[in-house]
Amino acid sequence: MPENTTRDTVILGSGCAGLTAAIYAARSNLKPLVLEGHEPGGQLSITTLVENFPGWPEGVQGPDLIENMKKQAVRFGAELRMAHLDSVDLTTHPFALTTGSETIHTRTLIIASGASARWLNLPSEQALIGHGVSSCATCDGFFFSGKEIAVIGGGDSAMEEALFLTRFATKVTLINRSERFRASKIMLDRAMVHPNIKFLSSTTVEEVLGVEEKDVKGLRLKNLASSNEYVLPVSAMFLGIGHIPNATAFKGMMDLDPDGYILTHNNVFPSLNGQPIPGVFACGDIQDRRYRQAITAAGSGCMAALEVEKYLEEHGR
Ligand code: NAP
Repeated sequence: MPENTTRDTVILGSGCAGLTAAIYAARSNLKPLVLEGHEPGGQLSITTLVENFPGWPEGVQGPDLIENMKKQAVRFGAELRMAHLDSVDLTTHPFALTTGSETIHTRTLIIASGASARWLNLPSEQALIGHGVSSCATCDGFFFSGKEIAVIGGGDSAMEEALFLTRFATKVTLINRSERFRASKIMLDRAMVHPNIKFLSSTTVEEVLGVEEKDVKGLRLKNLASSNEYVLPVSAMFLGIGHIPNATAFKGMMDLDPDGYILTHNNVFPSLNGQPIPGVFACGDIQDRRYRQAITAAGSGCMAALEVEKYLEEHGR
């Protein structure tokens, strides 16, 4: 084993969780290597103004926040590398990670690969992300104060987003592709009794209008029962159709929940068949289906790095 090239820690993912872990690990002189992954900067890098991250009274642009975190991590000795993880072997010690033709050995691993919002994958939707199309009501709802907006989805996330967005929007139209809403009764009832939420079921979005203007002007909808198409004028479309945790690479290596999120104990400890996996930690949205906030991801990133430090102290570097 090339002992002199073995890393103390490798962090997978460069969103809020991974970069916070990198800052803490770097300040402990562990010289972490951060593999940036396929969505460098994570979900914050595709939002605009973040107004709820503590310490920024006027708000901060998501990409700027990420850029500052990167600079902070690098300043203390973290190494950031654009690389896609091809495979990982957690049965050997040190662990072996393969990226392209390179194999990286590391004593500990922090998995912070996040979760990606599920999109409809319409070209018009993709073109308008950040210009009225958003997957984060908490981040972007405020920009649509006094406007009419649409929320896509029929599960608890969509209900939660719709209810949250009534704080700003004059009217929220909830659009569900199925006839039946999948949300829990309590969430559905709450949304149904709200005077500013209108429900459309058996309806799909065919196109988001406003691509030329770079601003959402409306949605071309299709009623699946009648096949009728019509335009709903709205200023924004929020997706609430779920997230996809980026954990498929770890299937069989650790316990995942039925939707593929890494199951953790005490925030950052993954397990295999209920047993701890020494030296492996997970943080951020890849193991958090509940809070999904930048600040909670950062918090768990900090925890993971502190656990790495403790592990290396106990097991030797
Ligand atoms: P979910 O329950 O899986 O619901 C996803 C919704 O999006 C469904 O209505 C689904 O429609 C729709 N959908 C999926 N792909 C779509 C597509 N391509 N086009 C149009 N619609 C699409 O996901 P979730 O709402 O994110 O909830 C995930 C889990 O977290 C659930 O267990 C939920 O209870 C929990 N959660 C709880 C809370 C809370 O308690 N406060 C809040 C949020 C989430 P179909 O029904 O037609 O498939």
